[in-house]
Amino acid sequence: MSLKHVLGSCHCGTVRYQADVDLSKGTIRCNCSICTKARAWFTFAGGEQFHLLAGESNMSSYQWTPPGRPSPLLTYRFCKTCGVRIYGTGDAEFMGGKFYALAVATFDNVSTDELAAAPLRFIDNRHDRFDRAPEDTRLM
Ligand SMILES: [Zn+2]
Repeated sequence: MSLKHVLGSCHCGTVRYQADVDLSKGTIRCNCSICTKARAWFTFAGGEQFHLLAGESNMSSYQWTPPGRPSPLLTYRFCKTCGVRIYGTGDAEFMGGKFYALAVATFDNVSTDELAAAPLRFIDNRHDRFDRAPEDTRLM
């Protein structure tokens, strides 16, 4: 495990954050309905590993309850000015408590080589299968 101190921001720069992430644990792309629309590409950080530096009042929130679930798992946060989605956050026992799904595309100090070296995992969350890749990953 090697934590990298990541700096991230939205496109207009109003929202800025820092987080310690372990890129050796990889990044994920998911095929659920919202991730498909947003072309999501995430990596995870624990609640203690994420710190918002600026822009809390300039973010909007979006929640979505998947069919068959009692409540939303994540709250998605995005910049009101430029519309860039910064992260989804939730609190779940199976994730070890409060966690952040950080949009990898918002990282400012992670090189293409570092991202390419991080294991990329495809998630078939459209079928509630976090443990496997979907059959077709071509557009993920
Ligand atoms: Zn912005």
